[in-house]
Amino acid sequence: MKTRRDTIVFVTGTGTDVGKTVAAAALLAALRDAGVSAQALKPVQTGCVPEADGLPTGDAAVYADACPGVSVATLVSFPEPCSPHLAAAMSGTRLTVGEVAAAVRERSRDADITVVEGAGGLLVPLNREETMAELAALLDAEVVLVVANVLGAINHALLTLESARNKGLRVAAVVLTSPRPESPEALDETIRQDNIAVLKDMGRVDLVVELPYFAALSENDPEARADAWREAAARLRPVAGALTEPAANAARRGEGITAFDETHLWHPYAATTPPPKTWSVRATRGTRIVLEDGRELIDGMSSWWAAVHGYNHPALLEALRTQAGRMPHVMFGGLTHEPAVALGEKLLSLAPAGLSRVFFCDSGSVSVEAALKMAIQYQVAIGKPGKHRIAAPLGGYHGDTLGAMGVCDPVNGMHGLFSGVVPNQVFFDRPACRFGGRFDPDTLSSMEAAFREHGDELAALILEPVVQGAGGMWMYHQDYLRHARRLCDRHGVLLILDEVATGFGRTGKMFAAEWADVAPDILCVGKALTGGCMTLAAVLAREEIARAISAHGVFMHGPTFMANPLACAVARASLDLLDQYPWQERVGEIEIQLQRGLAPCRNVSGVADVRVLGAIGVVELQEPVNAPRLQRFFVDRHGVWIRPFAKLIYVMPPYVSAEKDVAALTAAIAAAVREGEWK
Ligand code: PLP
Repeated sequence: MKTRRDTIVFVTGTGTDVGKTVAAAALLAALRDAGVSAQALKPVQTGCVPEADGLPTGDAAVYADACPGVSVATLVSFPEPCSPHLAAAMSGTRLTVGEVAAAVRERSRDADITVVEGAGGLLVPLNREETMAELAALLDAEVVLVVANVLGAINHALLTLESARNKGLRVAAVVLTSPRPESPEALDETIRQDNIAVLKDMGRVDLVVELPYFAALSENDPEARADAWREAAARLRPVAGALTEPAANAARRGEGITAFDETHLWHPYAATTPPPKTWSVRATRGTRIVLEDGRELIDGMSSWWAAVHGYNHPALLEALRTQAGRMPHVMFGGLTHEPAVALGEKLLSLAPAGLSRVFFCDSGSVSVEAALKMAIQYQVAIGKPGKHRIAAPLGGYHGDTLGAMGVCDPVNGMHGLFSGVVPNQVFFDRPACRFGGRFDPDTLSSMEAAFREHGDELAALILEPVVQGAGGMWMYHQDYLRHARRLCDRHGVLLILDEVATGFGRTGKMFAAEWADVAPDILCVGKALTGGCMTLAAVLAREEIARAISAHGVFMHGPTFMANPLACAVARASLDLLDQYPWQERVGEIEIQLQRGLAPCRNVSGVADVRVLGAIGVVELQEPVNAPRLQRFFVDRHGVWIRPFAKLIYVMPPYVSAEKDVAALTAAIAAAVREGEWK
C-alpha cells in the first residue's frame, strides 16, 4: 500500500445534518474494502454521553454499523448539544487546537489512514480564537467536504471551499449527499449533474461523488443495512482511491522537498555543494514554526526582524485576501491606488518629524539603493555635484545589492570579493560606547576626521541608529548619533538612517532614532513594515530633498512592483495593529525577560559579552560559533528556532511571544553556552 502511515482525512460538512457521519462511515468501509488499515476518530463529540453501557453511541455507532470491528475513538465528549467552544465552556474547560491536534496525531500512528470527523462545518469554533479549519490545517489533513445536494448546495460548497483554501487546506473530494428521493428537497437529474459539473469547474475539485439516500440505513434489518453500506462504500471507492494514491503535492512533502531543495535551490549566504542543512517547514502559526514532521518550534527570530506580530496574524491575512480580491498588483507609473495612499499616510504619521515624501520599493537593500541615489541626486540638484560619496561607520550592514554593499562594513562585508566594483566610500570607526553606558567623546574623533577630510565630497552619511544589526548586533550610545546629526548639518551632508531592521518597535521605541531624539533627512524602512508577510520597503524623505530633485528633473528610480497593493494593504494593517495592542509594554517585558534569562551566560567561559535592548537579546562568544551544531541542538533538544552567525547567538522574538516561550529561548541559549554546544 502506497499510503503514508498516519495520513489524516478530515471529513467536514457545509453545515450540520448534511450526512457527514454517513459519508465518513462509508469512506471507512471503502478504505477497508481497498485493504487499507483505517480507523475513525471523533476529536470532539457534543450532545452525546459516550459509551453508555459499553455500547458505542452517536457517530461511533454509525461507524461500527458500516465497518464492523473498526477502531473508533472519541477524544472528548460533552453532553450539551452545541458548538464545541460553548459545550467545553459549559463543562468548565477550554479546548485548544494545539492540544487536540497533538492527541489526534498520537492516535493516527495506529493506522494508515485516520478518518477524523469534525463537529459541524469547517468554521465551527473550538475556542474563541480557533476553528475546526485550524485543526485540519495543523493536522496537515486531506479534507473531504460533505454537501447536502439540495437547492443552495453550490453556494454552500463554494463558500466552504474558499474558506478551506484560505486556511491553506487541500480538498481531496466533495461528497454530495442526497435527501430522500420523495422529499420536496430532492433535486432532479439535470440539477444534480449540473451541481457536479459546477463544483468541479468553479470549485476546482477533481473528485465530486454522489452518495444517494439509503433508506435501509434507518431500518432495523441488519442485512438490508449491510447491503446499503456495501453500496455506499462502492460509491466512495474513488475517494478512497484518491486518498491512498499519494497525490502530486503529497509526494512533494517530507523528503521530496528536501531532495529538490538540496539539488536545485540556493539559500542565503550558502554554498550549494555541500548543501546547507535546512528544515522543511510545513506551516507557521502565531509564534510557532511547524516542521514537516509535525514538530513545532518556538520562533526566536521573527524571520529576521520581520514577523513582529507572529505568523498568520488574522488581521494581516484578512488585509491580504481582501486586497487580493480587488487588485493584487497594478503598475505605479502613471497610476495610484488607495493601499499606497493609506500606507503613506500612516507611515508619515509615525515617522520622525520633517519627513513628508514616501518612495515605496521592494526590499531593504533596494530602499538603501534608492536612498543613496536620492542623496546624490539632491546634491547635484543644489549645485554640489562634487558631493557624491557616502560616509558610513565600520560595522554597519545595509543590504546585499552593490550600492548597499558599498556602505556595509568593508571587512566583514564583501568588499574584498567585489573590489573595483563596489564604490569606494568613506569609513570611520564604529561607535565604541555601549548603549546604557558612559559616553566618551574621544570616540568621535574618527567620525570627525572623516568629515573634516571628506566633507566636501560627501553626499550623505548612512548608519543604523542605536543598533548595528547584521554587522555584529552592537547596541551603541545615542550620543554618537546626536553627534553624527550635528556633523551632517555642519558639512551640508544628508543623514540617512537605515531603520530597516530597527524600525517599528524592535528597540522599544517606534524608531530607534527616537532614543537620541534625532530626525534624519532620509529614512529607510522595511522588514517589519508588513509584519513579515510580504516584501516591501520605503524611503521617506524631507520635502526640500524632493523639491530640489524635482526642480532639476526626476528621481531616477522606479521598480516594477513599486507600491504593490497587496504589500501596501498588509503593511497598513500591520501598522494599524501596532495601535491596537500595547507593543511597547510587550517589548519592555521581553527586554526584562531576555536580561534575566541571558544573565547566567555572562559568567560562562568563552562568552565575550551579553547585551539586550528592547526585544533583542545577544550573547557574543569569543570565537565564531559552530552554527550547524548549534542549530541542531536548538531544534532537536530544545524545540526552538534560533539562527546564530559569526560569534553571535541572538534572539529577536515576535512581540506577541508568551513569557514561557521567551523563557524557553533564553534557557536554550544558556544551555548551549553552558554545555559548550557552540564550539
Ligand atoms: N538594512 C538593514 C539595517 C538590514 O538589517 C537589512 C537586512 O538585514 C537590510 C538593510 C537589507 O534588507 P533586505 O534583506 O530586505 O534587502
